[in-house]
Amino acid sequence: MFCSIILRGATKQIDRMFTYRVPSDLEGTVVPGSLVSIPFGKGDSQRCAVVVELKESFDGDESQVKDISSLISNTPVLKADQLALIDKISDRFNCTRGDVVELMVPSCVVNHKNPVEVFVELISRETAEEVLRSETLRSIAHINILEYLLERGKCSRKELMSSLSCSAAQVKALEDKGLVRLVKETSDNESSVIAIEDAPKGKFTEEYDLSDEQKNAVSEIFNGIDEKKPNTYLLFGITGSGKTEVYLNCAKKVIAEGGSVIYMVPEISLTPQTINWIKGRLGDDVAVLHSRLTDKQRYEQWNNIRTGKAKVIVGPRSGVFAPAVNLRIIILDEEHDSSYKSESHPRYSAKDIARMRSLITGCSVVLGSATPSVESFYAANMGAYKLLELKSRARSEAKLPNIVPVDMKEQIKLGSGTMLSAPLRQAMSVAFSEKKQVILLLNRRGFSRTLVCEDCGEPVTCKNCSVAMTLHNNRRNGSQSLVCHYCGYTIPAYEAQCGVCGGKHFTKAGFGTQQLEEFLHTAFPHEKVLRMDQDSTMTPGAHKEIIEKFANKEASILIGTQMIAKGLDFPDVTVVGVLGADLMLASSSFKASERAFQLITQAAGRAGRGDHPGTVFIQSMRPEQPLFQFACTQNYRAFYEQEIEYRQKLKLPPFKAVGEIVLSLPDESLLIERANVVAKYLNDFLGFQDKKYQFEVFGPIPCVIYELRGKYRMSFVIKAANKSAINGVFKRLIEDFDHVKFPMSFDNDPQEG
Ligand code: ADP
Ligand code: ZN
Repeated sequence: MFCSIILRGATKQIDRMFTYRVPSDLEGTVVPGSLVSIPFGKGDSQRCAVVVELKESFDGDESQVKDISSLISNTPVLKADQLALIDKISDRFNCTRGDVVELMVPSCVVNHKNPVEVFVELISRETAEEVLRSETLRSIAHINILEYLLERGKCSRKELMSSLSCSAAQVKALEDKGLVRLVKETSDNESSVIAIEDAPKGKFTEEYDLSDEQKNAVSEIFNGIDEKKPNTYLLFGITGSGKTEVYLNCAKKVIAEGGSVIYMVPEISLTPQTINWIKGRLGDDVAVLHSRLTDKQRYEQWNNIRTGKAKVIVGPRSGVFAPAVNLRIIILDEEHDSSYKSESHPRYSAKDIARMRSLITGCSVVLGSATPSVESFYAANMGAYKLLELKSRARSEAKLPNIVPVDMKEQIKLGSGTMLSAPLRQAMSVAFSEKKQVILLLNRRGFSRTLVCEDCGEPVTCKNCSVAMTLHNNRRNGSQSLVCHYCGYTIPAYEAQCGVCGGKHFTKAGFGTQQLEEFLHTAFPHEKVLRMDQDSTMTPGAHKEIIEKFANKEASILIGTQMIAKGLDFPDVTVVGVLGADLMLASSSFKASERAFQLITQAAGRAGRGDHPGTVFIQSMRPEQPLFQFACTQNYRAFYEQEIEYRQKLKLPPFKAVGEIVLSLPDESLLIERANVVAKYLNDFLGFQDKKYQFEVFGPIPCVIYELRGKYRMSFVIKAANKSAINGVFKRLIEDFDHVKFPMSFDNDPQEG
């Protein structure tokens, strides 16, 4: 018997199917999906691989075929539907099949050693019976052991010792007498307690009578599940409309019918609170995959999933690869969240993979959000997804917070400074006097790399793309230039002119979280401040610690970046401030408006969750911008209409696909030289392509973060009719360029500029 295998983590050069022989003692146990160890290459070093198919014969020189060395895991590690996904994922996300196997078979599985146990068995039943009859044994323990083994057959020494309260020495004595044999065997049924951090239960354990809107959504999705067709639903419901209740009802149905559920939530919302209420509602058959698990815990969770013991898999984007048994539904809560897209190789999108898995298995996909991504809402409008809407809040007493736009131009004139406006400061004082809490939100992305007009607050935008231009320092001659990261349009900084008021005086935009923290210490010396940003959450567990402190009211102010906008529930927060709101729009990404709208809407959802109404202050230089008006009234549709028009005009997703190629090298002049080679290649090659692909290429453009970890980076942007056309170009580049001389990364769905 032979089999084809894929090497786990294979690089491009060895990403092929290799044939191996299945030795006779492994026949029957090696099946498609098995994880095996094989000798590979000239030195026959042991590598880990997955079996994809069995074959009776091999048309080639059989004497050249090597044997599989051993089985790493006794049961298959991949299900048929996962095997079917490997090629598709590798194709779609420009990675090797070995990369996909690595995503599906985490290292905890490869490294897992099945614990070895000592088993005791009789050498011969007859002899044992004989010895007992002859009454030659003096020790009662010896007699008990033999009787136990006669009655139950082979068992582990541990079991024997605990059932009979005998010692290992007593077992050994029987071995010495030649009556029993001790054998070491691996056992797969390791059972240990899964340690998930404890948090108080409650809150979500009670079930509700569903509202009519919820009922309708649930019954539509039920139909989809029953149909066993690849249905995708977009559950569009304002914050607090009870989307979670819809997910839980769908999950319950699937579990009751013996199916399983993948329930993804953004990384940051995967808190002990979330985990515990899901468990509270769905029972203990819940496996949780999160980044704080040890390898052992992760293996246990994974093993419970593959054996079908765990029916619900809760996790971040990596959950989409779980070896779920009889998968019937995949839920993505907060589907717009950027954490569903991987920002390192392979740059996969969990949302796309959920859809791909649904096409193979016929499971349903539910995407839920109060602020869907523009692409998803468009897909729903075009009929590719079924739109389900929840228009009202689930608890009628829960009110939308009061949203107050603040004009910072006026505030600065009045002498309030640039950080806190007078109305926000006042509201904060009132909140503190009532022992309430305040959240201040500051988006750091793109900050201070943008220039804004001193007169009107407008950022300098590209004349072609209407995204903000990014400031770059030219280190050679100390000059500064402004660069558009979509089309590469560049001007010297001193030539900048405001597109709105014609002003010529510009200033670097924004201030950081640390500056704000210092300012707060002087403005409110008696209040404690917690800060949550990339710097303060570097150490593992720091994020959780900050949240706990704030929840325990050890501080009255929490300041932070977009990290704090989602999923957190603090009943005593009555004031939320969104600072520098227009700078969110000034990021260099075409998704800037979308992200800003989502962030403000979500931040607004933070205020007044408890019994007290909340107020949200949105500070910006241009409060009259439509986007702020839409966010203030939580009017997603109005925002969408404006945004989709802009995307259509500029031929951005969902109308055309955008791909990004980043070339990075430690030597700057070499980088520029090679970037020009790639530029010429792209222009030549794409110039000959069929018009139907609608190729456009821009670049080389210096990356927003030009220097990163000792390397300089240049990018190219390609637009095309669809993602496959973009992937086609990536494939050609991968084939035609030496990836050591030209280290490139490819992304067919760039999130940030
Ligand atoms: P969303 O996820 O849509 O923002 P949640 O699922 O968090 O909303 O629900 C908001 C609140 O409404 C929660 O406290 C939830 O327990 C409650 N809730 C949900 N459905 C109902 C219902 N049918 N009746 C009463 N309360 C409900
Ligand atoms: Zn441009």
